[in-house]
Amino acid sequence: MLEFRVIKTSSRSRARLGVLQTPHGEVMTPAFMPVGTQASVKSVSPRELLELGAGIILANTYHLYLRPGPEVIAAAGGLHRFMAWPGAILTDSGGYQVMSLGALRRVTDAGVRFRSHIDGSEHLFTPELAVAVQEALGSDIAMALDDVPSYPAAKERVAESVRRTALWAERTRLAHKRQDQAQFGIIQGGVWADLRRESAISITSIGFDGYAIGGLSVGEPKPMMYDMLDVTVPLLPAEKVRYLMGVGTPDVLVEAVRRGVDIFDCVLPTRVARHGMAMTKKGRLVIKSRAYAYDFSPIEEGCTCYTCQNFSRAYLRHLYHAQEGLGLRLLSIHNLAYLLRFMAEMRAALADDEFEAWAAEAYAGWTGDPLGPGEG
Ligand SMILES: [Zn+2]
Repeated sequence: MLEFRVIKTSSRSRARLGVLQTPHGEVMTPAFMPVGTQASVKSVSPRELLELGAGIILANTYHLYLRPGPEVIAAAGGLHRFMAWPGAILTDSGGYQVMSLGALRRVTDAGVRFRSHIDGSEHLFTPELAVAVQEALGSDIAMALDDVPSYPAAKERVAESVRRTALWAERTRLAHKRQDQAQFGIIQGGVWADLRRESAISITSIGFDGYAIGGLSVGEPKPMMYDMLDVTVPLLPAEKVRYLMGVGTPDVLVEAVRRGVDIFDCVLPTRVARHGMAMTKKGRLVIKSRAYAYDFSPIEEGCTCYTCQNFSRAYLRHLYHAQEGLGLRLLSIHNLAYLLRFMAEMRAALADDEFEAWAAEAYAGWTGDPLGPGEG
């Protein structure tokens, strides 16, 4: 089962160093989870992920439910064996994907009815089905189905989502069968402090193995997100792991850790790679730019990743323009190396109680946009 232990808390903020013990290994926190939407972290092999230091990845229930189907993955012996990933896996509940990808969706207390974005087939996703699918996948951590309002949404709609998410969370707990799988509840409430408080109180009173903060990083201004974390995190039990969903930009990682969040996921490192961008200590580097045509230095001096040890900016630029798959792979490897190292450095700073000094240094290094295009 899942065990979480806080090793050390910063003397100057709510930032904390912890260790998450899962059935598939130990994960030091704060941790970043690379996203394997289709049971694959796009273009990066499990062996490479291990070499990069990833201990836990995220897979998407909505996608795997539609294709290849949970019955195929269960027959393969579960998701770990199916995709040959020995580390820990967290599966989302599908709630967010149904809202963002499913067509003709209709949400009622029963569940959410939608049409598949692949073949138009109709499905009813219920809290019980989200539990059953994730138990068939056999992830280490399963998420409760939540009602995710779009952003921006009227306060009445967000209040309805808070009420429904709590109702579904109770049903999720009742449907739980697999003792080797942990369940996390999700706090909703949009950008309203009173609704965030209400959601945090109702979800934590049900009692889960960990808690996620959902419905943020969906387009709201960053200060608003930080305000919501300030409201929500103190209401979550200190001894349980805290997860902020859909966050992977370095500055937001710093701000959320400072406010007491432990784990994160985002498609950002592999998504920006597809747009020909590298993440570096100085900010994003647009590798496709003409400026690098004759630049035979690595993406980042001092980076120990396979890409930086062997390939130049000029070569990576060439691969991007020639649309060679290797270019995407090499950029993804570097971006994941960058972000996983960023988290490792953050943990080292927390161990020495030097988080604030380390964060100030990270901010000083970023010139312009630290991150890449868009957020989340
Ligand atoms: Zn590198």
